[in-house]
Amino acid sequence: PGWNEVESLTSAAHERYLTLDDGEIADYIPVLAAVDPSLFGLSVIEVNGAAHDAGDSGHPFSIQSISKAFVYALVCEEYGHAGVKERVGVNNTGLPFNSVMALELNDGHPMNPMVNAGAIATTALIPGTSSAEQWEVIRTGLSAFAGRQLVMDGEVYASEMATNFRNKAIARLLESYGRIDADPLETVDIYTRQCALLVNAHDLAIMGATLADGGINPMTGQRVVSPEVCGDTLAMLAASGMYERSGEWLFEIGIPAKSGVAGGIVAIAPGKGAIGAFSPRLNSAGNSVRGQRAIAYLSRGLGLNLFASK
Ligand code: GLN
Repeated sequence: PGWNEVESLTSAAHERYLTLDDGEIADYIPVLAAVDPSLFGLSVIEVNGAAHDAGDSGHPFSIQSISKAFVYALVCEEYGHAGVKERVGVNNTGLPFNSVMALELNDGHPMNPMVNAGAIATTALIPGTSSAEQWEVIRTGLSAFAGRQLVMDGEVYASEMATNFRNKAIARLLESYGRIDADPLETVDIYTRQCALLVNAHDLAIMGATLADGGINPMTGQRVVSPEVCGDTLAMLAASGMYERSGEWLFEIGIPAKSGVAGGIVAIAPGKGAIGAFSPRLNSAGNSVRGQRAIAYLSRGLGLNLFASK
């Protein structure tokens, strides 16, 4: 579709779901419970750099689990296809994102990088001689994906650090199985920081479009990761980006995507572009209700389903 068509579909998607108020805001991280649930932003970025925005697409929120996709890409760039597969795994756990049982059932193997256990194991693999250095690699790397300097929300970080007993337990469990070499609690600290990075729907679309564009940020022209790493990352998102609902998502929508509990979703159409969505109300798996509906509408309208054969 041409520029005008994408532009009007983006506005139409926003208008269509503006009044939908199904779902609940995440409140297990106390500060997230205070967010205005009516916020709703959409952004579509094409690999040629064309941008289409609607609603609150510039409103900042914490990236949360969507960071897992981009930290994974940075680690793949460093360790390569086989190394990360062996260390972190590539299969969907079929269990909620913060499951401890998934680890216990698999001899402490984290199984996949898109749930907390695998994401913590992935963050531990980020290069650096100290946790401060590792954090800088992540902040700089995710900023390169977004094409601007991302900053952390100190309040979100503090709120989660005061309540994330479960993630600390998961990290200790990984340690007990010998699945993490770095200090487990320092790794949870970095992981919590990466989740507290502030983005908006427009940033998410640019970050996704970089993966759609073989690793080149379509806005800055900078190569962030290799085309092989984009392929590996998108395969992981297809398998597990929407947690235990990933199969259903792929069946209905047909493009890789990643969600976060603050209400963000990025969905990627390889070679074409990406959609960023933000709406805080979530379904029971932790995926934004309006974000999913709007992306489904856009994917249909723009013909993005990877499995469509005509
Ligand atoms: N920081 C959140 C956590 O670890 C991220 C979870 C998510 O977005 N699903 O629980």
